[in-house]
Amino acid sequence: MKYGFHVAAVPILFLASIGECAPALVFVQDGKPASTIVVPRQASPTVRLAAEELAKYLKTMSGATVPIVEEGQTVSGVAVHVGATEAARAALPGDLAKATDSIFAKADGDRLILCGGSDRGTLFTVYRFLEQALGCRWLAPDVEFVPERRTIRVEPSALSGVPGFSMRTFGARGERQREWGLKMGMNGFFNAEDSDHTGNGYYMPKAVPGCHAYHRIVPGDRYFAKHPEWFPLVRGKRVPGDHLGPQLCVTAPGLADEFAKNVIAYFDEDPNLQLISISPNDCRGWCECEDCLELDKRLCGGRTTKQGLARDRAFMGDRVFWFANEVAKRVAVKHPDKLLLVLAYLEYAEPPDTAKPAPNVVPWLCHFAPADYSRPIGDPTSEPNAQFNGILKRWAKSAPHLLFYSYVSKSMWWRLPRPVARSFAADVKHLHGLGIRRYYCQSSLSDWPEAGPLYYVIAKLLWDPSADTEAIIADWTQHMFGAAAKPMSEFYGAVEQAVRDTGQSYSDNPPRDVPGLYDFAQMDRALAKLDEAKAAATDEAVAARVKRVADVFRYGDHMARCIDAAARFKETPTKALMREAMDHGEKALAIMRHPKAAKFVSALQMNDQMGVLSRGFGDTIELGGRRCWNTDETGRGDGKNGWASFTIEVADTTKPLRMEMDVWGKSELQSLLINTGGLGRSFSEGGVWESVKPQAPLSGKEQWDTLVFVIPPKLIAQGKPIQRFGLGGSDSQIWISGIRVQSAAP
Ligand SMILES: [Zn+2]
Repeated sequence: MKYGFHVAAVPILFLASIGECAPALVFVQDGKPASTIVVPRQASPTVRLAAEELAKYLKTMSGATVPIVEEGQTVSGVAVHVGATEAARAALPGDLAKATDSIFAKADGDRLILCGGSDRGTLFTVYRFLEQALGCRWLAPDVEFVPERRTIRVEPSALSGVPGFSMRTFGARGERQREWGLKMGMNGFFNAEDSDHTGNGYYMPKAVPGCHAYHRIVPGDRYFAKHPEWFPLVRGKRVPGDHLGPQLCVTAPGLADEFAKNVIAYFDEDPNLQLISISPNDCRGWCECEDCLELDKRLCGGRTTKQGLARDRAFMGDRVFWFANEVAKRVAVKHPDKLLLVLAYLEYAEPPDTAKPAPNVVPWLCHFAPADYSRPIGDPTSEPNAQFNGILKRWAKSAPHLLFYSYVSKSMWWRLPRPVARSFAADVKHLHGLGIRRYYCQSSLSDWPEAGPLYYVIAKLLWDPSADTEAIIADWTQHMFGAAAKPMSEFYGAVEQAVRDTGQSYSDNPPRDVPGLYDFAQMDRALAKLDEAKAAATDEAVAARVKRVADVFRYGDHMARCIDAAARFKETPTKALMREAMDHGEKALAIMRHPKAAKFVSALQMNDQMGVLSRGFGDTIELGGRRCWNTDETGRGDGKNGWASFTIEVADTTKPLRMEMDVWGKSELQSLLINTGGLGRSFSEGGVWESVKPQAPLSGKEQWDTLVFVIPPKLIAQGKPIQRFGLGGSDSQIWISGIRVQSAAP
C-alpha cells in the first residue's frame, strides 16, 4: 500500500487517497450496519459525543444504526475507532498528538481511525470526516446538508491537519449556534456547562460574561462606600459606574490587589475556566486624578491619540495596559497559564508606547473606528482601513498573541444587505499573514440570509487560511441552494457589486453610512436574480431558503432606499422626498420589523405629521385616539435618560416665535429647552440651553392639551435659520402628537 500522506509544517487539511486498488471500507451496506464504532474505555463526554454524532449522521444518511462499543468489546465489520483507543494512539503521528485541536483520520485495511490530538480534536475529526469523506455540510446553525446513501463506503484515505488559528470563536451563545460552532471547528465561546462535551472549549465566566469588565470585577455597589478612591475622579468628583463607564482610578493604592484577588477567585472556583476579560467599561469617564495623569505622562508623555473615532483625545492605551500588567503579575503567581483579555478599543486602540502587554495579557483588538467593512483591511484605497491596518501592524509586531475582534454582525446593523464575505475572508488571510492566531467574531449567526456565506467562509479559513475563498463560497452556495445555486450566486454577486460600484466605505451606523452606499441599479438586478432563483427552486427546502433570503433582502432594499431618500430630504426638504422615504420605510416594515429601523421610520412619520425634524423620540403609539410619540424611547423605570430634540426653520429671528404643542395632559412637562448658544451641541459639549415655560401648564388629566410657548427674540439664535429645541430628561414620560410654529404677532 502506498501512502500519499504527510503532515505539512503549515497546517493544511486534505483528504488524500492512500491506496491503489485496495478494497474500500464499507460502514453501511444496503441500509444495514457493516461496522462498529469503538471508543476508549471510560471515554470522556466529548469523545462520547463524537461517537454519537458519527452514529447519528450515518443513520440519517442510510437508516442504519451502527453500534457503539467500548474498546475490548466485540466488533463486527469495520472497526471505527473514535478517540484515543490503543490502535488510534499507535497510529497517531507524534506531532499531531502534541497539538490540541489537531485532527487525524485514516481509513485502511479493516479499520477507520478518527482521533485528534485531544478529545476536542477527536470531535473535530469526526465532523471533518463526515464533511470531506461523506459529503455532509453544516451551512448555517439551522441548515445542514446530509446526503442520502443506502451504502456508505470510503476508499483507503487519510485526512489530517492542525488549525491555522489556535483560538476560533464566535460570539453567539444560543444552543443551536454553539452546536454549529462545534461542527465548524470553533473552540469557543461556549458556556461553562458545555465544558465537558466541548473538550473544555473557551468560555467566559458567568460573573464576567462580556468584554467590558471593570464594573463587574470591582462593582461600585460593593466597594464605593468603603473605597471611593478606587473610583475615578471625573470633573472633580469620585463616581462609581456601570458597563457604560466611568472607569476606575487605576493608580489608587490597593485597587490592583483587590482586582487581582477577585480575578484569582474566579479561576479558583472553576478550574476549567481558561480566560476572563479585565477590560475597561464601555465609553469613557477616565480618572482625572493627579496620579493617573502623572502615570500617563510617565508612560506616553500624556499624548493624544492619532487615529479613528477617538482622534485627538487623551491616549489611554498605556494606562489600560499598565493596569492590566499590574493585575496580571498578581494573577500569574497562582494561575500562570490563564489568559486575561484586554480590549484595545477607541482611545486605547493603538498599542501602548511603554506598557507592553505581559504574556498572560491578551490584547483584544477591535476592528472598529477606524473601520470600513465594505473593503478588506489590507485595501489601501480605504482610508479608515489604511489607518486601522497601521494600528494592526504595530500590534502584530509588539503582541502577536493578540485576539482579533471582528465585527462580523456589526458590519451592517438593522439587517441591511451586508455583502462582506469576501472582504472578511481576505481579512482572515491578512491576519494570519501578520502572525495573528486568535480570532473572535461579534456575531449572531442567525443572520445568514443577509450575510450569505460569511460565517461559513470565516470558519473554514480559520482552519485553513490558505484555502480558496471562491471554492468555499461556491461549495456553500451549491449545497445551500441546489438547483437555484446559479441565480443565488449572481444575486450575492450583484449585492456585492452594488457596494463596490459606489466605492463608499461603511462602518456601523446606517443613518450615517447608508446614504450613497448602494448602487440601486445593481440592487434592482439583485431583486431580479431572486425572482430567477424562486423559479429555479424546485425542492421545497431550497425554496424556503430562497424565500428567507428574498424577504430579508426586500426589507433591506426598501430600508436602504428609505434612509437614502431621508438623507436627500435633509438637503432638499421637499414633500415628495419625505413621501418617498416614508413609502419605502413603510414597505420595509410591512415585510419585517427591525426595532431600530421601525424607530427611524416612526421619526419620519412624526416629522411628516408635525413638520419638524426630530431625534430621539420613541416609536409611535396610540393615546386618546391620536398617534403620538414619547420622549423616553426606552420607557419608564429603566433609569435611562429620555431626551428628544427637534429643529424648526425660522424665517425671521428678530420676531417672537409662537409655538403650539399638543401634549398628553398626564405628561411630565414643565418647560421646553431652546438651544441658544453652541448650536447643535449637547450640555456636555458646551451647548447653552435656556428653559421656556408654557403660557398655561398641563391639565394633568387623561386628555390632549395644547400648550402655547412664546419665545422672545433674545432666546432665539440670531441670524440662524434653524432653531433647535429639546425636551425630556431623566426618566420623564412626555407624549407629543403635534407641533405647530408661527411667528408671534407683535
Ligand atoms: Zn486616578
